[in-house]
Amino acid sequence: KVGAFPHRKELKDFDFTFQPSINQEQILDFLTLRFIEQKENIVFLGPSGVGKTHLATSIGIAAAKKRTSTYFIKCHELIQNLKKALLENRLESRLKHYSKYKLLIIDEIGYLPIDTEDAKLFFQLIDMRYEKKSTIFTTNINFKAWDEVFQEPKLANAILDRILHHATVVPIVGDSYRIKDYLDKESE
Ligand code: ADP
Ligand code: MG
Repeated sequence: KVGAFPHRKELKDFDFTFQPSINQEQILDFLTLRFIEQKENIVFLGPSGVGKTHLATSIGIAAAKKRTSTYFIKCHELIQNLKKALLENRLESRLKHYSKYKLLIIDEIGYLPIDTEDAKLFFQLIDMRYEKKSTIFTTNINFKAWDEVFQEPKLANAILDRILHHATVVPIVGDSYRIKDYLDKESE
């Protein structure tokens, strides 16, 4: 089943020369989807506009094309949905729903703070997928600062532990592609 991707961004549309900190071979290796067979995670880590969502989406589309059940969701929306399910006494079935995807893409961890109750819901999902399913995360927050995002350090640690145990972290440093035209003008 093909998840709802926010935009159809594929790898052919990605300009690797603009972002030299990214290892193209590594990204191409993700497209083989071996990481899904091995139930490994990918974390794209870097500032706004460097291509995290684009790359995560490319991999998701490749997986969906090969009929791997894939779903893309923003972290904030995921948590809102879990919260709503909790209030409506259907948390278990919602968690099961999100755990069944062979590949889940959780976009934008860290742009919005996550309170303790929300972090507990998020933890439950991460724990259910741990070592069973692959998840791709995008985040602009260094792991050391996840305490501040999740507010409760123990919970932040338990979440990070499970995410990173079998994961490839792709740190991206560089300029935002969104404002590249302005940067070009500045240097003229
Ligand atoms: P992030 O998730 O890191 O904030 P995005 O992946 O949303 O950034 O990228 C911002 C915009 O710039 C998107 O429209 C994306 O397709 C485009 N983009 C980013 N990096 C590149 C690149 N290296 N080549 C082509 N387009 C890019
Ligand atoms: Mg993004």
